[in-house]
Amino acid sequence: MNKIHFVDLYAQYISIKEDIDRAISNVIRETAFIKGKYVDIFEKNFARLYGAKHCIGVGNGTDAIYIILKQLGIKEGDEVITVSNSWISTSETISQTGAKPIFVDIDPGQYTIDVSKIEEKITSRTKAIIPVHIYGQPAELKEIDSLCKKYGLNLIEDCAQAHFAEYDGKKVGLFGIASSFSFFPGKNLGAYGDAGCILTNDDELADKMRRFANHGGKPHHYIEGINSRLDGLQAAILDAKLPYILQWTEKRIEIAKKYFERLNKVDSIILPRITPHTKHVFHLLVIRCDNRETLQKQLDKNGIPTAIHYPVALPFLPAYDYLNHKPEDFPIAFESQNKILSLPIYPELSDEQLIHITDCITNFYK
Ligand SMILES: *Cc1c(COP(=O)(O)O)cnc(C)c1O
Repeated sequence: MNKIHFVDLYAQYISIKEDIDRAISNVIRETAFIKGKYVDIFEKNFARLYGAKHCIGVGNGTDAIYIILKQLGIKEGDEVITVSNSWISTSETISQTGAKPIFVDIDPGQYTIDVSKIEEKITSRTKAIIPVHIYGQPAELKEIDSLCKKYGLNLIEDCAQAHFAEYDGKKVGLFGIASSFSFFPGKNLGAYGDAGCILTNDDELADKMRRFANHGGKPHHYIEGINSRLDGLQAAILDAKLPYILQWTEKRIEIAKKYFERLNKVDSIILPRITPHTKHVFHLLVIRCDNRETLQKQLDKNGIPTAIHYPVALPFLPAYDYLNHKPEDFPIAFESQNKILSLPIYPELSDEQLIHITDCITNFYK
């Protein structure tokens, strides 16, 4: 049996080596390193495959959120509502604009924002809501969208972990005014370095964001901007992977199903809730379990790497000490952070490897 990785990016490279090598050498031969043909091609292809009007390639998924917020005019004195269980990019970009991040607890079954707890956080300063489709599981967009409409708020989706996930048969990333994607190497669609993009159907916002991301627009700098561009090599690599992304996504779902079948009888484990109106794309397979640290050690001894996403929920990070949040403010997020465990999942994970992993877990709780 091959060595089990947490994600096996080399195995993926080997499976499409010719495509990737050709993409890289084309960019080098044409020295199309910044902007240029390959960025245009990828932006068009990703937008088309996704069914969005505009795709704006940017430096990474964090900048994508920041650029959206800035160009929607979010500023000091404003509040932006987001979820307590995410990667820090979601909230640090809110602070970077000068606005205040307002956290909401999570739903215990699917780890996304608890929609029943959003309305009580809305004030006259609230300007936007950023749900995160965490682990590949869509947040409850219907309820969030109607709250945004009711209070006149911008809906911004953080899709960093949820490329091609669906809610009510429609892809996530198409519900709000704009959405952010990360192509960090380990994401479902990953570059060979930092990369990201923004999707929007709004022409004017698209122009503003494109300018802002590239020094305020060249040659005339209408405004001061930032330097956050998708580079040519990353764009060409991403474009070479695009023909495979849908089959890789189905493979993840298939592997998750096998995990579920083999683990659903283990009492000490809670599997994520799967809802019929959403398509979970399993960027991560996160279980809740008893004796997590001991299980993790046992799995490690058996050659099975695991991870925790995330060991400390956002409101309890030292960076947010100044907000004075207490465990009882976000009880579900607080309880989950000590129970969650991410198991290896990637399209190249074999049946043999999966059986080894699930056998080790089952034996541990016997
Ligand atoms: C990865 C990630 C980001 C940021 O993406 P980068 O490309 O690493 O900047 C943002 N939000 C979430 C939820 C992520 O997982």
